[in-house]
Amino acid sequence: MKPISKIAAGVQASTTLVIDSMFKQMKADGLDVVGFGAGEPDFPTPMHIKQAGIDAIDNNLTRYTPAAGLMELRRAACYRLKADCGLDYEPEEIVVASGAKHSVYIALMTLCNPGDEVVIAAPYWVSYSEMVKQAGAIPVIVSATEAQDFKITAEQLDAAITDNTKVFMLNSPSNPTGMVYTRAELESIAEVCCRRNVYVIADEIYCNLVYDNLEFVSFASLGADIKERTIVVNGVSKSYAMTGWRIGYTASNRELAKVMSNYLSHSTSAPSTISQQAAITALVGPQEDIHEMCRAFEARRDHLVERMNHIDGVSCIKPQGAFYVMMNMQNFIGKSMYGRMIQSAEEFAQLFLEKGLVATVPCTAFAAPGFLRWSYATSLQEIDKGLDRLEQFIKNA
Ligand code: PMP
Ligand code: GLU
Repeated sequence: MKPISKIAAGVQASTTLVIDSMFKQMKADGLDVVGFGAGEPDFPTPMHIKQAGIDAIDNNLTRYTPAAGLMELRRAACYRLKADCGLDYEPEEIVVASGAKHSVYIALMTLCNPGDEVVIAAPYWVSYSEMVKQAGAIPVIVSATEAQDFKITAEQLDAAITDNTKVFMLNSPSNPTGMVYTRAELESIAEVCCRRNVYVIADEIYCNLVYDNLEFVSFASLGADIKERTIVVNGVSKSYAMTGWRIGYTASNRELAKVMSNYLSHSTSAPSTISQQAAITALVGPQEDIHEMCRAFEARRDHLVERMNHIDGVSCIKPQGAFYVMMNMQNFIGKSMYGRMIQSAEEFAQLFLEKGLVATVPCTAFAAPGFLRWSYATSLQEIDKGLDRLEQFIKNA
């Protein structure tokens, strides 16, 4: 047999999804495992949104839609981007895709030529580097340490850009760190992107999950030049507890939107018509449910961070958005636990799952070795159970 595609062969499985399926399998096998793995809200999709999906089926809204999505949904996305992010877009500048992951993917496919460099601010969501590779481009990782609140500086970005740099990937609020860039930080990053002539993919999927009354600043809102070179990514998965409905969207200039739409027209076409109808209701309907979920996430964060920082040997800084906490476990590297020498966050996470029955995500694949990501999109009871187990796991090691 001839070898398969080199690009496809080089793509790694998603750590987050692998851990999530391990967790779900262990649970199905009857084990009392606690999950902090995949970042998906534990809340059900709000009733009025589910009803819109049911109505779509009842009313036979079950046929193809235009590749870029229903015009009504693209209008709804404009309305929401204006209300939540202060962004002005026309429906023709919106392209709906099968989840925000897919939106990032088509944005990269649209912008990158083989050999182009894509600068990724790390710690970063595991799929970014793999999607860059799928586009034939080269990921260039710029790391921010815990001491700098996991946020890169404009100077770091400037130093990483070369003549081959095509795109900078920004994610605020961030998965996996939960950190939120301030207006001043974004302004200095935007200045570099304009001066060095790079595109930006601004993944703002967590824009509604910001705590402590902090201001969320949308990158494309910072000026006409930066807006022109930015593809904004957003969607309904996180804000509306709709991970399984698979609706994401991009907002960009019209030319880029047209190319992305063409690309979709030969790959997935538009996402499920039923999901699109439900997403319209999510975006233009009552928003009270999302505010309530946001308040619940904030209370969970406070509790998790407070308790984690009282457990010997581990620590975390307080994130300001999304639903992730980065647990620093570097104290355990080079130490023996349960008769095994711990060399990495993976080994710690593996042992914690085996002996403590708690699923977390080691952050090596997020370019943050020495950390475990805890998703607190789960109940306070489960959070306490997980932390009790962490205490015991460390004590008995
Ligand atoms: N971007 C980030 C930063 C994410 O954490 C996720 C969650 N998987 C996505 C995009 C993709 O979301 P979706 O489920 O809509 O594909
Ligand atoms: N974004 C979520 C996570 O990071 C969902 C899983 C995924 O798509 O990677 O866990």
